[in-house]
Amino acid sequence: MNRYHSLLCAVNLSEGSQTVVEAAAQLASRENIHLLHVCEHPITGYGESIGSNHRVTEAQIKQHAFPQLSALAELASIDAGNTEILFGEPVEMIRQAANHHRCDLIVIGSHGRQGLQRLLGSTASSMLHGTPCDVLTIHLQ
Ligand code: AMP
Repeated sequence: MNRYHSLLCAVNLSEGSQTVVEAAAQLASRENIHLLHVCEHPITGYGESIGSNHRVTEAQIKQHAFPQLSALAELASIDAGNTEILFGEPVEMIRQAANHHRCDLIVIGSHGRQGLQRLLGSTASSMLHGTPCDVLTIHLQ
């Protein structure tokens, strides 16, 4: 029997995301896993994969991220209906989604950002404070 009933797995679509999804798949039944990717609003131009083109629309950003998120979901047999792309600040949106889906566990990578982005602060350490459910960080090389 799984200890967790509803799990939120948050991925930033970087290299380690596959490891994070595979770990999540071990902890809850597939239908109870929600897979989330958060993009910042186009005006802020967040995210390595979209570069610095601030004029791209949310629809274009979603179109870009969706195949990567779907591939990760498929890898762990997570239902396509349980994948979600949201816009906003990652820590806030991860918490909101966990709350919305009544998750009792959030699974994230120990890091995700690379290069200069790492200096902007860690999603992982921010999640550990003020998140009203268990948070599991998956160690990434
Ligand atoms: P960071 O602390 O920002 O290096 O990221 C640590 C982990 O937080 C990543 O491995 C992901 O699991 C999660 N994460 C970071 N940014 C996002 C994002 N934009 N959307 C979803 N999950 C994220």
